[in-house]
Amino acid sequence: MRAWALGTGSSGNALVLEAGDGRVLVDAGFAPREMARRLRAIDVAPESIEALIVTHEHHDHARGAAACAAKWQWHTYASAGTWPSLDPRPRPGTSFVSGATLDLRTMSVRTVRVAHDAAEPVALVATARDSGERVGIVYDVGHATRSLVDALSRLDALVLESNHDEGWLRAGPYPPSVCDRIAGPFGHLSNRAAADVAVSCAHRGLASVVLAHLSRRCNSPQLAQTSVRAALGKTAFRGELRVSGPDAPVAIPLGVDRPQQFSFGW
Ligand SMILES: [Zn+2]
Ligand SMILES: [Zn+2]
Repeated sequence: MRAWALGTGSSGNALVLEAGDGRVLVDAGFAPREMARRLRAIDVAPESIEALIVTHEHHDHARGAAACAAKWQWHTYASAGTWPSLDPRPRPGTSFVSGATLDLRTMSVRTVRVAHDAAEPVALVATARDSGERVGIVYDVGHATRSLVDALSRLDALVLESNHDEGWLRAGPYPPSVCDRIAGPFGHLSNRAAADVAVSCAHRGLASVVLAHLSRRCNSPQLAQTSVRAALGKTAFRGELRVSGPDAPVAIPLGVDRPQQFSFGW
């Protein structure tokens, strides 16, 4: 299995999963022209993507979904709560109830309802049919529920929101009501909360943790990486810790027995 984050954060999110000869896009937070440019950067033709899964309706995840799906005939999957916001409705398309497992051609994708202020947002765990490799994708989560943490067991790679530093958020430019929303139980994961989730997922076979969806104003790649690295240092984790940013695509390492290495993909 191979995977790339094409961009993460409030300006747009998209991630490619490849298992066997099948490719799936997770979220389409970019309009078609920009999406094509980012796919070209990893040498993927938009037409080669079979399916699009939209995690929730917020613009940074769904802005380009309907237009991209129509242009390249992507079969689009979204939860029943997310589906009505896709306009025009993608055809072909399938709505599902969160918790469902999507049986795609070369991978299965389990959906897990998450706590976030959207209609029916989900995290995803994709499992390749040929190799059994598992990638967890956790964006936009206010707090990690038991069911989410349970679903993230035995992963080969974890893409995890690490949105803000709690101190920087309170000292930052946002009014208190916005701070409360971001830090609230249906907002976004802080670096500290992300570290807790990463620790609960840590095991020797976890090849990588890729931190994602960092706030430009209330976080930095160094800060996010430092807090999660410190927490992971006390676990069996021996994989790579990377940070994905808004611009350049970042490869998501998979595969066991990699040397321990911490690097920036920002
Ligand atoms: Zn988002
Ligand atoms: Zn969101």
